[in-house]
Amino acid sequence: MSRLWNFSAGPAALPQAVLERAQRELLDWQGCGASVMELSHRGKLFMSLAQQAEADLRELLAIPDDYAVLFLQGGATQHFAQIPMNLAGEGDSADYIVTGHWGEKAASEAAPYVQVNIAGSSKAQHYRGLPPRESWQLDPRAAYVHYTPNETIHGVEFHDIPQVGEVPLVADMSSDILSAPIDVSRFGLIYAGAQKNIGPSGLVVLIIRRDLLQRAGRPMARIFRYAEHAANDSMLNTPNTWGWYLAGLTFQWLKEQGGLAAMRERNRAKAELLYRTIDGSDGYYRNPVEPAARSRMNVPFTLHDSALDADFLKESEAAGLLALKGHKAVGGMRASIYNAVPLEAVQALAGFMGDFAKRHG
Ligand SMILES: *Cc1c(COP(=O)(O)O)cnc(C)c1O
Repeated sequence: MSRLWNFSAGPAALPQAVLERAQRELLDWQGCGASVMELSHRGKLFMSLAQQAEADLRELLAIPDDYAVLFLQGGATQHFAQIPMNLAGEGDSADYIVTGHWGEKAASEAAPYVQVNIAGSSKAQHYRGLPPRESWQLDPRAAYVHYTPNETIHGVEFHDIPQVGEVPLVADMSSDILSAPIDVSRFGLIYAGAQKNIGPSGLVVLIIRRDLLQRAGRPMARIFRYAEHAANDSMLNTPNTWGWYLAGLTFQWLKEQGGLAAMRERNRAKAELLYRTIDGSDGYYRNPVEPAARSRMNVPFTLHDSALDADFLKESEAAGLLALKGHKAVGGMRASIYNAVPLEAVQALAGFMGDFAKRHG
C-alpha cells in the first residue's frame, strides 16, 4: 500500500520528506543509539533540537525579540480556557469575534474565566462570511480581542488582520499558521494546535508578546501560567518531545521550500484550482462561502444532490483521495489543503470531480 492524497482536516497530512527523515532517524537519532522519543528533554541533544526548532520558527515568521515562543500541550482547546486565565483579571471582559465553530467554542470555554462579549458574529448568516467591520462592538477596555483567522470547519478566512486599536489581538491560528507570511507584531498572542500545519497532535505552539506575560491573570497552578513556561523554556514539565522534533523537521522543510512567501504562492494556486473547479461546474458542486472570505486551507463543498454523497466518497477513496467527508455541521465534502498537500493532490481531486460529474450526470 502506498501513500494516498490526504485531505484530512486534522490530524492532517505531513510532508512526506519529514516522515521519511523521521523514519530514517527513528531507531538511532544523531548517532546516540536511541530514538528521539527515548531521551531526556533536559539532555544536551534534545535541548539543542528545541533551540533550533524555535530559531527556525522565529526565522520563518520573522518573530520579533519581544515575543516569547512556547511549545505546550493541551491542544488549542485547553488554551481557549488558559488564555483568559492568563490575560484577564477578576471582573475583566474580553471581546470575541465569532466567524465559525471554533470561535464559538473559544468564547464558550472562556466564559468561566472572563466576561465574554461577542463583539462581532456571522452566526445569523450561518457563518458563510465575515461580519462587516462596522457591526463590530469593540470595547477599548477589553482585556483582549479574540478571533479565528481561519475557521477550519466553515471554510471562512480573514484575508487581512483586523484593526483593534490598543487592545491585544489574540488569534487561534490552528489551521492557517505558516501558510503565508504574517506580521506577528500586530498580535498580542498567537496560538496553534500542531496537527494541521505543523506536526502531530498533542503540541501547541504559542507566541506571546512578553509584556503580556506580566499580567497577573487569576490565581492558578504554575502549569497553567504562560510566564512560568516562558521562564522555563517550555520545560516546566516534560514537553511533547516527539511533537517538538517533528515540528522542527517541518520548519526545516518549510525553509527548504523557500519559506512562507513561497508557501503563500503554492497555497494560492491550490485554492484557486479547487474553487475554479467548483465554480465552473455549473452548480454540480457548490461552496457556500462568500468569495471574499473563502479559506485557502479548508474548502467545504456540496454536491447538487446529496443522494450522491455516498458514491462520491466511495469512488474518491477508490481513486486514492482520502478523507473528503465534510464536517457534520456543514455537510457535504471538505478538502483540507494545508502546506503538506501538494498541487498534484489538488489536480488529482479536480480531475476526479470533473470525471464524477460526467459519470453521474
Ligand atoms: C482543530 C482546531 C481546534 C481544536 O484543536 P484541538 O487540538 O483538538 O484542541 C481549535 N481551533 C481551530 C481553528 C482548529 O482548526
